[in-house]
Amino acid sequence: MTDLYGAIDLGGTKLRAVVADLEGNIRGEVIQPSEAGEGPEPVIARMIETLEAAAAEASVSVSDIRAVGVASPGALDLVHGLVQEAPQLPGWDGVPLVEIMSKRLGIPALLENDANAAALGENRFGAGRGTRFLVYLTISTGVGGGIIIDRKVYHGVSGAAGELGHMVVWFNGPRCLCGERGCLEAIASGTGLSWRAKELVDAGHAPDLAAILREKDELDADEIADAARAGDKDAQRLFDEAGLYLGVALANYVNIFNPEMIVLGGGVLTGAGDLFFDHAGRIMRQLARKEPLKYVRLERTALGDRSGPLGMIAALGDMVEGDKGSLKRPEM
Ligand SMILES: [Zn+2]
Repeated sequence: MTDLYGAIDLGGTKLRAVVADLEGNIRGEVIQPSEAGEGPEPVIARMIETLEAAAAEASVSVSDIRAVGVASPGALDLVHGLVQEAPQLPGWDGVPLVEIMSKRLGIPALLENDANAAALGENRFGAGRGTRFLVYLTISTGVGGGIIIDRKVYHGVSGAAGELGHMVVWFNGPRCLCGERGCLEAIASGTGLSWRAKELVDAGHAPDLAAILREKDELDADEIADAARAGDKDAQRLFDEAGLYLGVALANYVNIFNPEMIVLGGGVLTGAGDLFFDHAGRIMRQLARKEPLKYVRLERTALGDRSGPLGMIAALGDMVEGDKGSLKRPEM
């Protein structure tokens, strides 16, 4: 029988577990709400349940799975397998997730940053299949990134590399959740767009958005996108600026990494990409140096929400060595 591996995408709103072979063929997949507000212990119990359900769909039990990989948001200690803290996961304060998962499931466990995992997934099984050098950017509530160098995730000295969303692209620009100003995330993420739209409304602009804000506390990117498509000039300007500064960031990534491909994914890109994707590509081509620009292709995600879990499957595959298929320690 083909060896099967498990992967769990731990998110603030949902959990996705997949069981797949090392070619990336998914045999079982289950999605459940994460109920992150309940804190780590119930969420971990739910992660295990979700993986068990995915295994059942693949007609195996968890003990038949060789190993499990978890893709997590937030600040991680990859050397010790800890989730240090994550804004999306209240109460996760130094949780030894690798130890807990491997003990409870009885199989080896691996932890990776969710955007790094997605980058590896797109590199091995998605839009970047066959590439060696790839940059991945997810534009959703925040902006996350992953860097693939010679088919491996680039982690940096402590595992914190790849925070491409906090590249400062607008000096003294809008305030970012990280505390700085003018990060790409502050301009192009769902949170950034929402904050900036609210500022416009507070200043007496954007009547369409003001009407929505009389009904609820905050706007999401889809609502701002609808207003832009309906002709609201202020909403259009927010997306023009998102495209412009995304293009500035992309040009910087091209110059720094000389990648074969940059893959863009995430909910804001899926829902509102028509308002800024092409603009960002034009700005990238205007600003990047000619030599690296010749080699880079700008693509949208091919795997969507499955890029993270499939990246974990690829990462586990890289740890298999020898004829018996034992697992070596992950490389940092
Ligand atoms: Zn920032």
